[in-house]
Amino acid sequence: MILTDFHTHSYCSDDGTASIYEMALAGAEKGVSIMCITDHVDIDYFETGGLNPDCFSHWGKIKEEYARAVEKLQGRIDLRLGIEFGEANHAPELAESIASTGELDFIIGSLHNVRDYPDFFCIRYKSEKECRELVDRYIEEHFELAELGFFDVLGHLGYTKRYMKRRGFDIGLEGHEDRLRELFRLLIQNGKGIELNTSGLRDTTGSTFPEKHVLKLYREAGGEIITVGSDSHRTEDVGANIEDACELLREAGFEYVTVFKKRKPEFIKL
Ligand SMILES: [Zn+2]
Ligand SMILES: [Zn+2]
Repeated sequence: MILTDFHTHSYCSDDGTASIYEMALAGAEKGVSIMCITDHVDIDYFETGGLNPDCFSHWGKIKEEYARAVEKLQGRIDLRLGIEFGEANHAPELAESIASTGELDFIIGSLHNVRDYPDFFCIRYKSEKECRELVDRYIEEHFELAELGFFDVLGHLGYTKRYMKRRGFDIGLEGHEDRLRELFRLLIQNGKGIELNTSGLRDTTGSTFPEKHVLKLYREAGGEIITVGSDSHRTEDVGANIEDACELLREAGFEYVTVFKKRKPEFIKL
């Protein structure tokens, strides 16, 4: 089986710990064949949700690090370069200028906060009602993203559960099936996909993002573009649970996993 990991962060992300070279070397050592570095480019400041106009200012550094890594790796792994693009719907003009650089292999479109709120990670959830309202807004903002299209796959759908569960509210995307089917139809129509993110398997959430029942909805809607990613922020986690993710994809009816090069999908038999 060809292992791919299309969601990884280096220290070019604020929450990363290792260089692009170290992350890619860890991938090669774990048998990952094709990997993409997807450092954060967040339109909003995570603490406040306010706009960060300089969110792409580290791109020069990322490119330098990437070039150095590719040289040192000497073909041990097929390393690609993308970004995890947060909150692109909050500043569409800025987002368009970033997404159209032409230098990116891949863009994950993520939402880490809804408009006028801080990052989901920062919120001290106080009630089930508050959580449910935020999940509603989270899903609705994905429609804005899907319409705008400054991405290739939607990132970690339903990962809000991680932070809500930590505060005692075990709330996923159950009950939103109809709206999710609509979202998936829109995505497919616009030639976009989703990712299967394994990071929740390494923490108390205990599930992938999205969870299996949502993954099945995407497949039933005709979804074919799907990447897998560890969302690793340290070398130990590169490639983590990717084989489990591929098994889950097969169980949900997928025959291929997707990778991207210069924003074009390539399909690898599972
Ligand atoms: Zn993310
Ligand atoms: Zn990430």
